[in-house]
Amino acid sequence: MTLGAHLAPRARSHIEQADVVFVAVSDPLVELWVQQMNRDVRSLQPLYREGKPRTDTYREMVDVMLAEVRAGSTVCGAFYGHPGVFAQAPHRAVAQARREGFDAVMEPGISAEDCLYADLGIDPGETGCQHYEASQLMFYQRRIDTSAYLVVWQPGVAGDRGYRRFSTPAAYRQVLVDLLAEDYPLDHECTVYEAATSPLQSPRIETLALRDLPAASLAAHSTLVLPPATPLRRNEALLARLALLDDAAR
Ligand code: SAM
Repeated sequence: MTLGAHLAPRARSHIEQADVVFVAVSDPLVELWVQQMNRDVRSLQPLYREGKPRTDTYREMVDVMLAEVRAGSTVCGAFYGHPGVFAQAPHRAVAQARREGFDAVMEPGISAEDCLYADLGIDPGETGCQHYEASQLMFYQRRIDTSAYLVVWQPGVAGDRGYRRFSTPAAYRQVLVDLLAEDYPLDHECTVYEAATSPLQSPRIETLALRDLPAASLAAHSTLVLPPATPLRRNEALLARLALLDDAAR
């Protein structure tokens, strides 16, 4: 995620030892950093295009990586954050390689989620924490637990039914706000969060009322965080059952 900081030793060794490294990272400078670790680093960034379905982009990423694997190369895909968090291509590439009888592993990394816990001072164990992709939250009927944190990924492309835009306009975000307003008051505080991708930057932590979200500036790398709106409620029936078990065990 952050240039010069977030790369575990084993992931670095995979990058250094691969014959070919395919890279899809958070920042052009991070891409330059990876280029210094291997002589054959190929960017996956040109596969993204406004108007092209991201599902096509992800399929092409898997295809180019697997083509090199089939040709006999040791291949590393270097994806920013955690390669398996809100990221389809790395999971698919690993699964496809294994289906074809090749060894494939995924190294965990430091995701936007990990950064936000540190930067926003959130412990997900305190009240629980639910994570949804913004469009999926809008397209499907979900039950939001307002006594836990809610983290909404990809709010900058909320409501993009074709998964082909780089951003969606305010009217789409208003639909997201209307949905969230079924569970949260419109003055509920939410945070637009962007982890720093370079050690010279500070994270963006902007707190605003839910009603103001449509007018907020949201980037492709923004994440939205809503703190709990309601207290935890005790499950008295279940606690009573457990008390009976405790009594029986005495
Ligand atoms: N694999 C990545 C990870 O582990 O963080 C996530 C990739 S997902 C396709 C893209 C989404 O991740 C963004 O829309 C945003 O919600 C989140 N994200 C990516 N970079 C971020 C950053 N610098 N700060 C906060 N959230 C970020």
